[in-house]
Amino acid sequence: MTKPPKTGESFQVDCPHCGRSFEADMLGGSSERNRGFKCPHCRLFVAFAAVAEQDRVEPAE
Ligand SMILES: [Zn+2]
Repeated sequence: MTKPPKTGESFQVDCPHCGRSFEADMLGGSSERNRGFKCPHCRLFVAFAAVAEQDRVEPAE
């Protein structure tokens, strides 16, 4: 269902830590677990896999 994200693509993300949404580019990682975003509000790392599972991420235009 979810196609593998590409590093550098922009996404609209709902941060599971602080609950605010932001738009950010995917950060690369050597493994799937390391891919995700840095929340500009709380500065915590948001793992792509975690937000994808909860439907909290969608591609941004
Ligand atoms: Zn946050």
